[in-house]
Amino acid sequence: MANNIQAIRGMHDVLPDQTPLWQHAEQIIREVLAGYGYREIRLPIVEKTELFKRSIGEVTDIVEKEMYTFDDRNGDSLTLRPEGTAGCLRACLEHGLIHNQVQRLWYYGPMYRHERPQKGRYRQFYQLGVETYGLAGPDIDAELILIMHRLWNRLGVRSKVKLQLNSLGTLQERAVYRDSLVDYFRRHLEQLDVDSLRRLDANPLRILDTKNPAMKAVVEAAPVLMDYLGEDSLGHFDALRSILDDLGIEYEINYRLVRGLDYYGKTVFEWVTDELGSQGTVCAGGRYDGLIEQLGGRASHAVGFAMGMERLLALMETLDQISVAGDVDVYLIRVGEKAEREGLRLAETFRNEIPSLKLQLHCGGGNFKSQFKKADKSGAEFAVILGEDEVAEGKVGLKSLRGENDSTGLQQTLSRDEAIAFLTGRFGKSS
Ligand code: ATP
Ligand code: MG
Repeated sequence: MANNIQAIRGMHDVLPDQTPLWQHAEQIIREVLAGYGYREIRLPIVEKTELFKRSIGEVTDIVEKEMYTFDDRNGDSLTLRPEGTAGCLRACLEHGLIHNQVQRLWYYGPMYRHERPQKGRYRQFYQLGVETYGLAGPDIDAELILIMHRLWNRLGVRSKVKLQLNSLGTLQERAVYRDSLVDYFRRHLEQLDVDSLRRLDANPLRILDTKNPAMKAVVEAAPVLMDYLGEDSLGHFDALRSILDDLGIEYEINYRLVRGLDYYGKTVFEWVTDELGSQGTVCAGGRYDGLIEQLGGRASHAVGFAMGMERLLALMETLDQISVAGDVDVYLIRVGEKAEREGLRLAETFRNEIPSLKLQLHCGGGNFKSQFKKADKSGAEFAVILGEDEVAEGKVGLKSLRGENDSTGLQQTLSRDEAIAFLTGRFGKSS
């Protein structure tokens, strides 16, 4: 067995023991987004390489070293999506969903970046992306923040994340700032690492996003973009702050927050935690009005964010208790030839009568003792028992398997109708 094929480094299987937590989070995400009137869009995982180069920016970590790029059989350069914003905007421009319209959208799925795998940093990871188009005001920036705020609350991790805000102003404002930033870094060349030296001319703002701890001091003493913003940008930022203040949403202003992608302007934000080591950003986003024209559309407005699911789940796993619905409600035990045949039929009857019931039928034979062991292991709350006696009487046994039920351990004999009524009361959907 020396030659077993294994998964690609940094790409993980989500095993059946872990899927309930994923599904729990996914369901709450859907509920919260529906509560704000956001609609789902489903996008291809592969796009033309050019799309990412033109949107994310040539001199960024993602485009320079993280993309999975390959030639299609006809020679087109394609890339596994490293993020969803570019593809979402591409699709909406292509289908005429932007010009003179307002959109509130979300997507969910795997993204691909060739990074060094470590805790919270993988080569395939899932993102929830939320994007809005056609809205200029700071109220929509605030709405996106409120969505995440509600989601953290619903998922029980609100106290573990903090909101950081900054404004990147306009292209013109950044151009002026850029000159003084380059001046400053030139005066401190000896403190720059190789990446930063290379970026000094091409994309000096990127230097502020460095992950190199040795550069912390030089970055911290650098000029601050906020000081270069004009009236309009400052007004937008102040208005956003005052909405958040009104609603009691706490935030910190982080003057160094620039984000790792080039398309942002005005509002940028990150939700960060200190419970996940150096992979502390769980959710990040901002306004990127300029990208619409950059991708060939007519001027409009865009603002959105992306949340990393693996980091969210890691955060949820730090909670003392998470209540996630189990996989199985009822385990049907059947011993003896007649009971085996009858059990199959009974399982189908239960499923007909109680469509929301999660019932697992024992397969593979065995005596009562071994089947009860399996029932316990399944996590079911109740065992329904069918032996020769029950079949002869047209009844079923019912036994509670969990400590929190008063009748744990006691086995009752019920008619089939009584069993259906009991299980409907317990596991049927009231609606
Ligand atoms: P980082 O600074 O951690 O590299 P980023 O700025 O590259 O993050 P974004 O492109 O803003 O990340 O992606 C939004 C979110 O997606 C991140 O906050 C994070 O939760 C998640 N994410 C990004 N890259 C990875 C990855 N390689 N593995 C797992 N999650 C990731
Ligand atoms: Mg990154």
